[in-house]
Amino acid sequence: MDAWTALTERIDELDTLAGVASVIGWDEQTCMPLAAAETRGKQSALLSKLQHARATAPEVGEWLGVLSSQDLAEVPRVAVKRALRAYQRGTLLPEKLVGDLAIARSEGFNAWVKAKAEDDYSGFGGPLQRIIDLQREMASLLAPVSSSAGTATAHPYDALLEEYDPGSTVAELRPMFSRLGAELNVLLDAVADRPHPVGKVPSLDVEGQRKLSDRLLLDLGFDLNAGRLDLAAHPFTAGLGQGDVRLTTRLQADDFMSTLGSTVHECGHGLYEQGLPASLAGTGLNRAAGMGIHESQSRLWENFIGRSLPFFRYLQPRMAGIWPTLNLPSGELYGAANRIQRSLVRVSSDEATYNLHIIARFDLELLIFEGKLEAKDLPEAWNDTYRRIVGVVSPNLRDGVLQDVHWSSGYFGYFPSYTIGNVYAASLGATLEAAMPDLWDRVERGDFSPILAWLRTHIHTRGHMEDAPQIFKDAVGERDPVEDLMAHLWGRQGVLYGVSRT
Ligand SMILES: [Zn+2]
Repeated sequence: MDAWTALTERIDELDTLAGVASVIGWDEQTCMPLAAAETRGKQSALLSKLQHARATAPEVGEWLGVLSSQDLAEVPRVAVKRALRAYQRGTLLPEKLVGDLAIARSEGFNAWVKAKAEDDYSGFGGPLQRIIDLQREMASLLAPVSSSAGTATAHPYDALLEEYDPGSTVAELRPMFSRLGAELNVLLDAVADRPHPVGKVPSLDVEGQRKLSDRLLLDLGFDLNAGRLDLAAHPFTAGLGQGDVRLTTRLQADDFMSTLGSTVHECGHGLYEQGLPASLAGTGLNRAAGMGIHESQSRLWENFIGRSLPFFRYLQPRMAGIWPTLNLPSGELYGAANRIQRSLVRVSSDEATYNLHIIARFDLELLIFEGKLEAKDLPEAWNDTYRRIVGVVSPNLRDGVLQDVHWSSGYFGYFPSYTIGNVYAASLGATLEAAMPDLWDRVERGDFSPILAWLRTHIHTRGHMEDAPQIFKDAVGERDPVEDLMAHLWGRQGVLYGVSRT
């Protein structure tokens, strides 16, 4: 068997193992009983050991050695480049570390569920410190192959960023986030003493919200023969393999806008997963190009489309069909969807404040991986950082340091991708608007197919043939994404609040 065939068969096997890991991960967050936590931890640890062993076996290195010296066509050339990088990263991590981390993540998640429910950090600090220690070790082992390696600006956190957003570095993100944070604070200060836009959604039964969610998935173009929608406390999307994309949402009777946002957001992720190029199966290139670009897809649908007035003109009659006594004009739905004000909780925050929550977490994660902050000191550091960046401080832990699942599951380096996604989405939206003069008429009619087609062409079907920054640039041309996001916010929320940019 030649090296290319052997390599693609191994990639296919690894994709299958990753699919199994996703199935049990999905189960853990949707329906697993709490008593199964220990067993699930063992299952996850064994699976990740198997994945690691198959990915880093000596023969993989030999195939890659043979293929790297050959003159290959484009697809095999890119596939070999990505596989080599994954192999190098994999061989730098000892099997024991990978297994320990899987156990620590599972224990951390369960400790966090309990800590949050009881609003008590004491049982969580220990498991979190264990994750931090293991991830620091991981970051230092991976540093030599991170894209900033050897540069004067290399940062220990770069290796973690690269797990989620290949190519992103602290050196680039720090000034971008700092500029964005300052500009967002100007907007939030400007609206602070203005009245909120008119519009309030009453309590709506969850059965109706479920019906509307199902309808939305159909209209937005999600293929329900190749995916499904379930419920989770913290909504997420998981691709479990070809033909199986799992969306989750959270139905909240008293917070319709939150349900709507979750459903449309996760649908955006799901559309990307369903649009990845099946023709590249077995090459490792039929994957998302990074979590930032993944998030740009969810945010484009959730914010740019899903909070627009034409979208509510489409939605209003569908809502009236489900709740006939609900008399809420589309203009008021639009107002309700676009309230902005500083807030405590990331997941329920508005489109503008959201990014301040990310910038705060980015600052804390940098301190942790610079060795300046430990788990026991996080609650206090959290409050200090929030006071400085977001302008609010939580009276409890539940809405403070314990609000997110990420750290408990070892996802350090993940948060920046949310804001990378938001700025990408703003530029994609501006480009779509320019390319499609009848965009908003289509949205109002519930015809989302041209938007999906454009995203399929420019983003989805490219898989991971290029890294995200290149795919983004090819799609939008030369644009300033921070400026695009600020222009979008001033042009929508700024107008609703009657303030203008000076
Ligand atoms: Zn998302």
